Amino acid sequence: MEEPLNQPNFEAGRGGRSGSSRPRSAESANSGHANAGVDQPHAVFEILGQAYPDAHCELDFSSPYELLVATILSAQCTDARVNKVTPALFAKYPDAAALAGANRAELEELIRSTGFFRNKADNLLKLGPALLAYGGEPPKDIDELVKLPGVGRKTANVLLSEAWNIPGLTTDTHFIRLSNRLGWVKTKNPEAVEREVGALFDPSEWNRLDQRLIWHGRRRCHAKKPACGACPVAELCPSYGTGPTDPEEAAKLVKE
Ligand code: SF4
Repeated sequence: MEEPLNQPNFEAGRGGRSGSSRPRSAESANSGHANAGVDQPHAVFEILGQAYPDAHCELDFSSPYELLVATILSAQCTDARVNKVTPALFAKYPDAAALAGANRAELEELIRSTGFFRNKADNLLKLGPALLAYGGEPPKDIDELVKLPGVGRKTANVLLSEAWNIPGLTTDTHFIRLSNRLGWVKTKNPEAVEREVGALFDPSEWNRLDQRLIWHGRRRCHAKKPACGACPVAELCPSYGTGPTDPEEAAKLVKE
């Protein structure tokens, strides 16, 4: 297995936190885990895989077209909210041709609750005709996908990985936050995170890594108050202590 390019700084999370309820010290964690001292990224990957064996994209879809539309709607919105909107949306606009002929007012009303609905309607109204130029289906090529209205690298990578199981790292807000907290990168630039974290893992691992980090970010490693005291990778995390370390307090923060 390849050496990681960025060795995590295990000192980073420990200053001024003596007496915390960390289960073991970083040093003992390293010695207690077969690979942790030399391959923390893969140790985290494996542990999160055990913690979230069913990690998957939480948007509901039945085709690449539906996934693309749902992903565009998920900007600044929860997947759960998008999933409430898309059944009626896909019933009315089941394909690119129907979307191309959508009435703006009707479309806006259907997607209003996802927020930023006017901008999203703009993109969807342009997306229909743009997809027709590809035969009505999203292209399986990131360079072509990012030419579509409302589609950046993040959305394009969702399509690649979830619709076709092509390796792609979706550097959403959770992925970027966790990659920094775990010591893998020191940047919030999505493309730099994609490039640097991508270099730590084999492309065959990217899709699973993506889902595991995103699930962990949604359930435990929250932006404001991460549940450090209830975190399966606490022993390996240089940011341990960013959130409550008391197990009972942390358990209350966990969202299942
Ligand atoms: S919850 Fe705390 S210990 Fe776990 S990954 Fe996030 S910052 Fe690190």
